[in-house]
Amino acid sequence: MPGTPKAVAKLVEILSTWLPSLRSRFVLLVAGLFLVLSVVMIMVASYLDLRDEEHRVVADAKAIGATVSRLAVPHLTNHHYLILEQELESIASSGIVELAQVHDPGRAVTIDSDPATSYFDEMEMHPLVARALATGADQLRQTQERVEIALPVRDMASETVLGVALVAVKRVPVNGTLFAIWGRNIVITLVLLVFCVPVTFHFAESFVRPIKALTQTAHTVSDGNFDAPFPVDRRDEIGVLARAYRDMVATIRANMARIHELAFVDPVTRLPNRECFRQHFNANMVDGAGKPNRMSVLFIDLDRFKRVNDSYGHDHGDALLKEVAARLQRLLEASGCACRNDSGLQKGGCEGDQAKFAPLVARLGGDEFAVILPTDKPRNSVYTLADDLVQCVEQPLEINGLTMAVGASIGVSTYPDDGSDYTEILKNADIAMYAAKRTGGNRACFYSEIERDSGSHERIRLEAELKRALLRDEFAVVFQPKIDCTSMKVVGAEVLVRWDHPERGMLAPGAFIDVAEESDLITRLGDRVLELACEQGRAWLDRGQRLPLAVNVSIRQLEKPGFTRRVLETLEMSGFPAELLQLEVTETVAMADPERVSEASRPLLEAGITFAIDDFGTGYSSLAHLQRLPFNTFKIDRSFVSGLGTDKHSRSIVQTILAMARSLNYEVVAEGVETLEQQAFLMENGCTTAQGFLFARPMPADHFEAWAKAFSGRSRQASGTTTRDGTISAA
Ligand code: C2E
Ligand code: CA
Ligand code: CA
Repeated sequence: MPGTPKAVAKLVEILSTWLPSLRSRFVLLVAGLFLVLSVVMIMVASYLDLRDEEHRVVADAKAIGATVSRLAVPHLTNHHYLILEQELESIASSGIVELAQVHDPGRAVTIDSDPATSYFDEMEMHPLVARALATGADQLRQTQERVEIALPVRDMASETVLGVALVAVKRVPVNGTLFAIWGRNIVITLVLLVFCVPVTFHFAESFVRPIKALTQTAHTVSDGNFDAPFPVDRRDEIGVLARAYRDMVATIRANMARIHELAFVDPVTRLPNRECFRQHFNANMVDGAGKPNRMSVLFIDLDRFKRVNDSYGHDHGDALLKEVAARLQRLLEASGCACRNDSGLQKGGCEGDQAKFAPLVARLGGDEFAVILPTDKPRNSVYTLADDLVQCVEQPLEINGLTMAVGASIGVSTYPDDGSDYTEILKNADIAMYAAKRTGGNRACFYSEIERDSGSHERIRLEAELKRALLRDEFAVVFQPKIDCTSMKVVGAEVLVRWDHPERGMLAPGAFIDVAEESDLITRLGDRVLELACEQGRAWLDRGQRLPLAVNVSIRQLEKPGFTRRVLETLEMSGFPAELLQLEVTETVAMADPERVSEASRPLLEAGITFAIDDFGTGYSSLAHLQRLPFNTFKIDRSFVSGLGTDKHSRSIVQTILAMARSLNYEVVAEGVETLEQQAFLMENGCTTAQGFLFARPMPADHFEAWAKAFSGRSRQASGTTTRDGTISAA
């Protein structure tokens, strides 16, 4: 049949959806139990009924036998065989009795119920009759088909045995009896089943209902509605489950609140955090009509906060931040009310009809706070608020019984005038804040106003960017090899910093080092370069390459207290040996304050670090000073090397430097060697080491390794000659 597989598939589908449910399983379980019970009951009932039937047939046979025996007494006494025969025939006509027979041993006559025979006929004696005669006792025999019983016929008075009565009673076939018994029991079971299945269904349904309700609630909760009702109130296990479930949801709700708090609230001041601030800004960038919402971001950085933290500890620092946060919030609320009189603030955003969102004050981290202020036309409202903020922070603070004072430098930028997105607006507010700091602090600067002075603006912007770059670790180092001109071996490398700028790509130090030196950032930058250099040096050492590294240091770094300690710590942390590290200090710096340089370098010298004078020839070194300073290497400035081919003056300067180095026992590194002629001149005049594009440009560590391998291969090939055939350059 073509329809069968479809129908079967449908059935399987229905069963597979129906069967796994708790309710169906419950119904099936009960029905199954019921059926098993019914089968057992039917078996037991059948067995009992069969046994009863057995007993009944035997009892019937006995009773009929006794009747025949009593009936036969007068007939045997009087020899009325014909009457007896007729009576036996009538007994057998009932159908149950198969055969009724009386034997008279006296006359050897057998009278039976079979109409086909007569007592005249000679008949063989039934074996049971013979046994009853011989024993004088009742004899019973049972077969599949019948029960036979033989009873002696006694005269009541004399107790003498007159004869024997024999009765054979038919058995009903067992199969027929069994069918009857089973039929009856199956009907009873079916009737009970018809009643029981709906009842079970009902129970199953009421059992499953609370589970369904719980499931519904679970769905609602997973959709994010933690207030979904729990409609289950029972004392049984489901009630326990529901309560456990309710507790779990309560815990999740509390955790969610905690997570939300951790994600969006600053734990120290309880103000919204940076992320919350960002989201608030982004959420309010456009109004309902899709037009940009004007708003100002006030970037607030506390002046002198670091000093409080360093001298009084973090507890006092935190308390101070809390107090400042509270002041900012109070001021903002108060200005919201005060501006009701006339100030533009009201129009701008507190509660005027154009106000689309509330101002927000947040802590961005460290000692940085920020305010988002909805602003419409009148700018002076923002000016006033910025000034108020400065004044309110400037008031002395009472922290744990101590009076402290900090200031606030505030930078303001306005969306969409000063930037098109959050990142730009915040960056420009930061730049404006930097401008406020650089011009003495404790004041507010507007980005749109510093823009006018483009020169200083660029520097300020760069400084702010550098600060961020340090936080984001955007600096990398490259390595330029130093070559021994006689053996043509790599004898070391100078480490040079690069800024991996997110927008402008890889920047050389010329683009930023001056600004870094002017501000204090050069110390942090220098520390980072030293770290990177030592880590790389150590990595090479681990791979069996012992490469001395020269790192540039600026005077700012040398001056800064703790420089010596930091250098030694960095060496220790990285495991780079001190004797492989050389620090390069420019000649002008070294000569400007030889006392200080010699002071600062002493412990480093003791540790094994060497010093080189960088850009030698550009300053005015006096021999007296040179001898007092801890240097052992000159680096001849690139300008003289590049002039070697054309400029006589340069040649004589280089010759002088080399002669001086010999007499002072200094090593010399010639910088900026670009041509074979330059190299040849230097070698003729006894310069040992050279560095320049002739050999390689500065390159990242991995390139350096590959380059060094190729270079040593080539110099082996060309061994015996010291000339090289062109510039080896790397990316
Ligand atoms: P420097 O110490 O005199 O470094 C040598 C500079 O000359 C490097 O420029 C290098 O790329 C370049 N140079 C090397 N060979 C040649 C050549 O054959 N021809 C030419 N035209 N130039 C060559 P870079 O990397 O741009 O560094 C510039 C300056 O920035 C350095 O001059 C150094 O004073 C400063 N600097 C670099 N890294 C650091 C640092 O980590 N800390 C400090 N404080 N200053 C650094
Ligand atoms: Ca240098
Ligand atoms: Ca140099």
